Amino acid sequence: MAVDLHIHSTMSDGTLTPDQIVRVAQQKNLTAIAITDHDALAGVAPAIQAAEGSTLQVLPAVEISTEYHSAEVHILGYFIDTQAPNLLEKLKKIRAARRDRARRIAQKLTDLGLAITYEQIAAEAGEGSIGRPHVAATLVKAGYVQTSQEAFSRYLIPGRPAYVPRYRLKPSAAIQEIIQAGGLAVLAHPGIDNAQQYVDELMQYGLGGLEAYHTNHSPARTRQFLQLAQRLGLLITGGTDSHGPGGTMPVEIGSVAVPDKCFQRLLQWAEQHGRVGLPPRTAK
Ligand code: AMP
Ligand code: ZN
Ligand code: FE
Ligand code: FE
Repeated sequence: MAVDLHIHSTMSDGTLTPDQIVRVAQQKNLTAIAITDHDALAGVAPAIQAAEGSTLQVLPAVEISTEYHSAEVHILGYFIDTQAPNLLEKLKKIRAARRDRARRIAQKLTDLGLAITYEQIAAEAGEGSIGRPHVAATLVKAGYVQTSQEAFSRYLIPGRPAYVPRYRLKPSAAIQEIIQAGGLAVLAHPGIDNAQQYVDELMQYGLGGLEAYHTNHSPARTRQFLQLAQRLGLLITGGTDSHGPGGTMPVEIGSVAVPDKCFQRLLQWAEQHGRVGLPPRTAK
């Protein structure tokens, strides 16, 4: 009964298509997955379609990158209505801002003597939500750096010369959009962003869950987050945050253990909130 509720596809900065992710999940006998692309919902429908006729359940989901006290705070949304007009419009605006930022990063890199174009970056992103990993991949292909990691640490992170901030929602707005779209808002990987300090505040906006299980959480951190979630009455989620082979987080799909009990609680939440029947539960 294994699940992976945090996976990126080519619809953002992952390297596997939604179809390929579904196939891998089926090979690994997972019972449920969520494709949580950055600021994009386009991976959900193809994955649900690819899983049709199998017992793999695909939860509609998204990961929204927000900003709080100038730090990154990622909010996951589960069981969202992927046709919710307000959410779709907000995400579209964010993706447009991502494209603008990629243009400005290309300009900065060119000024630094690393001649890459926006078109090259956009080609890396394909139909996906464009991000710094696509810039990194372009720099690797052009031979300016050896690895994506080197591209980040030399040029693309805050304080480095080609870093460009972009328009981001506040966590309160992201949570609100997710709730309005019928979904459950979850704080992603608090261990990466050190965002657990904001949990109380975020709960006031309607945060309903905490991603305790994550590739980058040590067992000790995971235990802390489980205790925190229990104390505050938050639901618990977990996943690998896999970005596919060769991606920025090339961990294997399904490699983070999430207790079935946690997943069953999520399904219970969905049922109580009328969110079942969206993805087929036991497909025929
Ligand atoms: P963006 O959404 O364009 O801001 O890019 C964020 C993505 O870049 C994250 O989801 C990671 O996949 C990747 N990333 C961010 N920081 C780093 C870093 N320091 N090293 C490698 N990858 C990173
Ligand atoms: Zn990513
Ligand atoms: Fe994230
Ligand atoms: Fe992620």
